[in-house]
Amino acid sequence: MSQKCRARSDIIYLGGDDMKQKANVNTELCVACGSCVKVCPRSAISVPDGVFAVVDSALCVGCGKCAKECPASIIEIGGDIK
Ligand code: SF4
Ligand code: SF4
Repeated sequence: MSQKCRARSDIIYLGGDDMKQKANVNTELCVACGSCVKVCPRSAISVPDGVFAVVDSALCVGCGKCAKECPASIIEIGGDIK
């Protein structure tokens, strides 16, 4: 089941059920710089309306490139869903 949440304090998921090996963005701390978007080989992460980054879990392969690039260090690969 896909889930979409617009609450800024929540992690955002678009599509897919298993986020254990996907990128998780702490949207509360995201500064919408877009650095993650530029390095994603799958175009799986975006910053809609310039507000905060969201991950399309159907496209994300968990490569971690976005996490390494994020200046705020607020992307995790896998881990617990808040
Ligand atoms: S983990 Fe890789 S595929 Fe997933 S959003 Fe980040 S850069 Fe894109
Ligand atoms: S690189 Fe980090 S701070 Fe910048 S848009 Fe992506 S998640 Fe947000």
